[in-house]
Amino acid sequence: SNTTTNRKDAQQLLPGVKNIIAVVSGKGGVGKSTVAANLALAFAKEGASVGLMDADIYGPSVPIMFGVRGERPMMRDVDGKGMIIPLEKYGIKLMSIGLLVDEKNAVVWRGPMASSAIRQFVTDVDWGALDYLVIDMPPGTGDIHLTLMQTVPVTGVVIVTTPQNVALADAKKGIAMFGQAQINVPIIGLVENMAYFTPQELPENKYYIFGKEGGKRLADEYDLPFLGQIPIVQSIREGGDSGVPAMIGNDALSLKAFEDFAAMAV
Ligand code: ADP
Repeated sequence: SNTTTNRKDAQQLLPGVKNIIAVVSGKGGVGKSTVAANLALAFAKEGASVGLMDADIYGPSVPIMFGVRGERPMMRDVDGKGMIIPLEKYGIKLMSIGLLVDEKNAVVWRGPMASSAIRQFVTDVDWGALDYLVIDMPPGTGDIHLTLMQTVPVTGVVIVTTPQNVALADAKKGIAMFGQAQINVPIIGLVENMAYFTPQELPENKYYIFGKEGGKRLADEYDLPFLGQIPIVQSIREGGDSGVPAMIGNDALSLKAFEDFAAMAV
């Protein structure tokens, strides 16, 4: 099929990349970008060479999460073609639309323009040799998802959801999309973010603020591997806002959550 041909071509575009992991969510705000960033950093901590592609064109979070807002990548001539050199921070390579254009501009792009920007992240960025390229996808199931899945040889998809019913309902649409014959990308599994909250002074207690184990039940229902639960931790949110992601910090609870999750995702 066309898809197969495109994905073979894409393999030639990213010949040095061993594994491409797309992190997706049905709904926005469930922590997809947080999970993608910390997954990439967990791989790097294990010694892997890692890139993070922020494909969330309409809501890029990599510049803030990594504290590189306003920085601009440089270009390099590779075999007569101008290639964009990814930024590097905390040992991983980064690319985001927020590093190329004023964030306010991309928000009004129509689908085809957004899709072509994403294609350029594959064709015009010099990713080099990587063990893992983690892609932070836009939320939902739109044109950009189709473009990416048809042009990038994605190894597998990680689905992020909260235990809340509205998030679970949207996650189901994602599961249906990625399982479709014309896309047919393997689903690595589902991770439940914001699964519970444990106050410092009550370390044995778990409060299920968004509902209990909804992600786990969804994984069971669709026979998908369950990649675990990530609790609500204040330092995860603070790390995201301050450019020092949880995996770079020293909060034991969040470090363990992301390390366990990364181990499940390989
Ligand atoms: P999405 O990419 O799904 O829109 P984000 O990763 O941007 O979601 O997360 C939304 C907000 O929730 C951010 O402020 C982020 O720091 C915060 N957040 C995400 N996961 C957690 C968590 N496990 N604990 C605390 N805050 C979190």
